[in-house]
Order: sequence, then C-alpha cells, then structure tokens
Amino acid sequence: MDYVSGLRCRECGTDFDQAPVHVCDECFGALEVQYDFERISQVLTRDLIESRPRNLWRYRELLPNGGEPQIGLYSGWTPLVRAERLAQHWGVDEVYLKDDSANHPSFSYKDRVVPVAIAKAVEFGMDTVACASTGNLANSVAAHAARAGLTCYIFIPEGLEQGKVIGSTIFAPNAVTVRGNYDAVDRLCSEIADRYPWAFVNINLRPYYIQGAKTFGYEIAEQLGWRFPDHVVVPTAGGTLLPTVARAFAELAQVGLVGGDLPRIHCAQAAGASPIIQALHSDADVIKPVKPDTIAKSIAIGDPGDGYDVLATLQASGGWGESATDVEIVNAIQLLARTEGIFTEPAGGATLAATGKLIDQGRIAPNESIVVSITGNGYKTVDAVAASLPGPHVIDANLADFNNLQQDLHSRQDR
Ligand SMILES: *Cc1c(COP(=O)(O)O)cnc(C)c1O
Ligand SMILES: [Zn+2]
Repeated sequence: MDYVSGLRCRECGTDFDQAPVHVCDECFGALEVQYDFERISQVLTRDLIESRPRNLWRYRELLPNGGEPQIGLYSGWTPLVRAERLAQHWGVDEVYLKDDSANHPSFSYKDRVVPVAIAKAVEFGMDTVACASTGNLANSVAAHAARAGLTCYIFIPEGLEQGKVIGSTIFAPNAVTVRGNYDAVDRLCSEIADRYPWAFVNINLRPYYIQGAKTFGYEIAEQLGWRFPDHVVVPTAGGTLLPTVARAFAELAQVGLVGGDLPRIHCAQAAGASPIIQALHSDADVIKPVKPDTIAKSIAIGDPGDGYDVLATLQASGGWGESATDVEIVNAIQLLARTEGIFTEPAGGATLAATGKLIDQGRIAPNESIVVSITGNGYKTVDAVAASLPGPHVIDANLADFNNLQQDLHSRQDR
C-alpha cells in the first residue's frame, strides 16, 4: 500500500511522477515526496502502528515505499532513554536520549534513511547503490547493500577515523577515498550521478532518503506515549535530519495521532564546522560556507545543502542553536558515558554540549522536557577520546599486588 501521489518541486510546484530524480527540470528546485494525508488519516491509528514489528516500517503509510518491505527489517526503533543522572547534572527535570548509537546494523541514524532509499532503488529496478559520505552513511549503505546483494560504491573524504573506514570496507563495497573534504566528495558524486545509472542514496534518491529520517521523530513521540516533548536538540551537518524531524512531528499532528504544541527544535554543530550557527548568531540571511576543522568528522560539512531549511525550521519552531569546541565535545562524550553509560561519537558530544549551553542560557527551562539526539556510536571514533582517558591500572597476577592497588584506589575515593 502506498499513499504517495508523486513528487513536487518545492520552488515552483511542478508535479513529477515517481522516479530516481531529485531536482526540478524547470527551475532546479528540490523535489519532495507528496502524500495523500487525507487517506492516511483515515487508515492510520495508534493501535495499528503498535501492532506492528518494532522497526521503522511500522510507520509505512508515511514512508514512500510500495509493497512488503524486504530491507531494514531491524532498523529503527532505537531506545528512548530517560536520563535521570544527566538531568540532575544539568539541574533540570526531564531529559531523554534518543539513542541511535544502537541502530541496526551500522550504529547511527543513517540506518533509517538508507533502508528507505535502497528499497526505493530496488523498486526502480536499479542494481547499484552509492553515496557521498562523511563516514556513517557509507557504513550503512555498504552494510545494507551487502545484505540485499546489490553492487555498492562508497565515496568518502581523506582523513576519516579508522573505525569509520573499516566500518565500510568490511562489507566489501567499491570504496573510494577522494582527496579533499566532504564538500569535494559531494561535488564529484553529483557529476558521477549524472553519468552513471546508479542509485546515489543522498543525491538522485534524495527525496526518498530524507523520508526515512522522519522515523526518528515518529519514534520519539510514540515512545513518549504519543506526546511531543517541549524541546528536541539535533546535530546538523548537511541539514537532512533537523528539518525532517520537525516535519515528522507536524505530520503526526496532521493525521491526528498526536495533539498539543509542537516541540521547539534546536540545532547543534561543531564549532569547527558551524556555518549554520554562525548565520543564526549573526542574524544573517546568508549561510557562508566554511572550511571544516573539527574532530566531529561525521558532521564536518562546510557548505550544508539544506542549511536554509534548518534556519527556517529553527525560526518556525521557536528553537535556537549552539556550537561546541573540540574540547567541549570530548568533555560531553565523557559526561554522557559517566552519567548514563552510553558511548557516543563526537556528533553526540556536540549535541550534548549544545544542550547544556541552551539550558544555561535559559532557552530551555528546568521544568520542560528535553530530547537529546544521540546519532552515532563512540566505538567507531575511539581516537577522539583516547588521549583524554587514563589507562587501566597494570598489576602482576598476584593477590598482594591487587590488595595494594585496591587500598590505594579506596583511599583516593575517600579523599
Ligand atoms: C549524518 C549525521 C548527522 C546529521 O547530518 P545531517 O546531514 O544534518 O542530517 C548527525 N550525526 C551523525 C552521527 C551523522 O552521521
Ligand atoms: Zn521547479
């Protein structure tokens, strides 16, 4: 069953049939999937959704795919963790972590967008999938392509963490490192996508890919008992996730599944790749591209494709944004691990640090509910924190040695 009526240009409103295309041939505006929300609201109920398996396809009426899903059957439905100790640290009442560091199979939010895009590529009869990636997207495309038996090309910038590189090459894709940063990779891939009949999940399949990110928002509302939080803080690179989460909440309201005020959406960036925060803080109409320089490589995009959408969403929802330096990011990764037992990558650290700043500024009040988006996993980026952690204590294999150590540790605790 699908409820998609076609694609529509966001700029000039021209309608298009479904195809692997992402820009309007009249005006180069971005194409967007159109749904028949009237019909969806007649069939889609909380009970129906709750009766389905705990994966992203439980919201299938609001996704662009036809037929029975064959891909991504274990993706999505990640934990929404109530964070009491972190809340106490910040002096606020109600904090939740939407934990996509536990997403299947490649441990980031990209395991939501990739199944939707690849399922669509298969519907279109395409047998080669590809992407331009800062690391996590390549991991997810390579993993899903392996499972679906599709040919795969991934394109990444030089200088990525070993965990991110091997997290792709283990799945045996055609892996290409492009000399330069992500913005160069992205430019090259747009040219390749024009020449080769491949499904670039975040280029020609982009209208469908974006749709998968809505499930991050749907799940937050369902996991809160079909209500909206007051605030959601979202890390931003190219700007796919943040506006799409806002869209997801608006759709839930539109089809009558959730009532009440829509959440305020806040943006988090790494200070070394923060063109959107810079525009926001200087009240500028223009987002000036920057040259990324940060340990948060998964969100190191200097020229965000959907940056204006992010700014518009912040403004419309009443949200704000903050950036975090590399030192603040590392401290926040450790804070989350120490208080909640979750190991996130630098993107999650940036989001956590930004949330702390928004609370300190009074933009988030102590009695308001907050969801912090944890979008990636720290086990892929151990280099980011290695230098700031003490090593384990080393002893010989005898009890006397351990007794001495234990007394030492104990007396240090007392002090
Ligand atoms: C891709 C990614 C994001 C967000 O990127 P957008 O392009 O803004 O959607 C955030 N965190 C992690 C870990 C990512 O991999
Ligand atoms: Zn157009």
